[in-house]
Amino acid sequence: GRLAAEPEAQHHLTELISEEEREHHLTALAGPPHPLPATMFPGLFEERVRTHPHATAVSHGDTAWDYHTLNAAANHIAIALLAKGLQAEDVVAVVMDRTLPWAATILGVLKAGGAYLPVRPDFPAARVATQLDRSDCRFVLGQRSAGELMDATAQESGRPRTSLFVEDLLPEDPDAADPGDPDVAVRPGQLAYVYFTSGSTGAPKGAQCEHAGMVNHLYAKIDSVDLGAGDVVSQTASQCFDISLWQLIAPLLVGAAARIVDTDTQLDPEHFLAELEESRVSVAQLVPSYFEILLGVLERTPRDLGVLRSVSITGEALKLDPVRRWFAVQPHVRLVNAYGATEVSDDTMHEVLSGAPERDFVSVGRSLRNVRTYILDEHGRLAPLGTPGEIVFAGLSVGRGYINDPERTRQAFVPDPYVPGERMYRTGDFGRWLPEGTIEFLGRRDQQVKVRGYRIEIGEIENKLRGAPGVRDCAVVVAHAAGAEKSLAAFVTASEETGEEDLHDHLASLLPVYMVPAHFHRLDTLPLNENGKVDKKALGSLAQSLG
Ligand code: ADP
Repeated sequence: GRLAAEPEAQHHLTELISEEEREHHLTALAGPPHPLPATMFPGLFEERVRTHPHATAVSHGDTAWDYHTLNAAANHIAIALLAKGLQAEDVVAVVMDRTLPWAATILGVLKAGGAYLPVRPDFPAARVATQLDRSDCRFVLGQRSAGELMDATAQESGRPRTSLFVEDLLPEDPDAADPGDPDVAVRPGQLAYVYFTSGSTGAPKGAQCEHAGMVNHLYAKIDSVDLGAGDVVSQTASQCFDISLWQLIAPLLVGAAARIVDTDTQLDPEHFLAELEESRVSVAQLVPSYFEILLGVLERTPRDLGVLRSVSITGEALKLDPVRRWFAVQPHVRLVNAYGATEVSDDTMHEVLSGAPERDFVSVGRSLRNVRTYILDEHGRLAPLGTPGEIVFAGLSVGRGYINDPERTRQAFVPDPYVPGERMYRTGDFGRWLPEGTIEFLGRRDQQVKVRGYRIEIGEIENKLRGAPGVRDCAVVVAHAAGAEKSLAAFVTASEETGEEDLHDHLASLLPVYMVPAHFHRLDTLPLNENGKVDKKALGSLAQSLG
């Protein structure tokens, strides 16, 4: 892309749109400004603890913690971190499964003024070590069963890192001897969290977001799904996904509750639907592939979903057909097409649907509060309504960029030519404005893909696969057979002795499970297209036929 043209160069280009249309882009399409609260998340949550002490805040399995208990547990974590010398913005890795103590630990980190870095206990040590080093992580809080991973990723040089077991910090009864809210004021511009996403060059990128962007997003979600006291939000997303955070903490700003649903439960759609109903979930969020699986189950065995009233779909494009079918079986459960990226504090646009749309596709809707959405041509100029271009986000939600990675930050976060002094984020997504002021999503310009909602750079997998013993060259593609879920397939040219299992094991030691291809195929040579590049289209069809 040539979007990052020097600002000087842009002066020589004539604008594509009139002054009037430009004004429309910057004001009407962005919506009215919403002032941010003066207090950031920890203080806002503490306020709810005072107003709703005995309302359920979070539950998991048979256990529920009310606001008072969750806050007391978080205080134990926060006070321990501060006692160990935590300073504002110190990165704290949390190596935990999704449990009640996990919820308390995240809140504890934020209350102490630290920045939350999620680590899944099943992630390969080599990858975790890279992320901790890259983010200059100062503290690792883990569950005891993650001890081996914590040891394997301990810092050998550089700034010292403190490792602590959460079991040692949380008393059996977290309410006991509540140490009280820490005396820490969190600034709007302070770092709140870091999520690592797949990086095309082989190294993951740590997207950083600040408290102002996070709290702005939380209120935008509260608006979008109309969240209030008495609601229960299902916390289903993996802890390495930024969406896991709003699912857990947006309810805590309004006196609602989060319901942690285990991954095992989600593997069985029947079990999952039963859990939603039994735990009185009113607001859920799913990725499109799982949404379609649930839809199939509901079509086969129609049922009432209890108090469920809103389902957000996010992570990849939402197709029209499942939306139509949904309203045929669940006419009273609203759908929200939620669109955004980790780099811009999660969602930045949404389309709320109470019925199937009239168009023959589902738009990604309008900008959320305090977000400006631009569609820019290859020279960085605002594209006229209806003309495709890159989707670029500006405003409060724009994050700080990739941690300790100025080069890749500069490429994706560029000066906003329309609001001096601010930066905007280039998504790499294409889209165009529709006459009603919503956006049609048109796909990606690069090799970033989504498989079951997980964001994956094909280049990162290929890079690691080329490093496997015996491999000469390789290409990874997404296989999408009709009626089946998308999966990854790898094609390799390799020495005789290189077995599929070796390749699988090599990648599994370096990459999270969802990035390890399901199938490995050996070829004598990789097919090339007429431009002399690996013919991924041909390989995609081949993968499908090989199954
Ligand atoms: P999130 O912040 O939602 O977790 P990720 O950072 O994982 O998102 O991935 C962001 C990318 O995912 C977007 O740039 C886009 O390509 C794709 N994406 C996310 N939501 C949608 C959606 N509703 N429709 C189409 N694509 C989407």
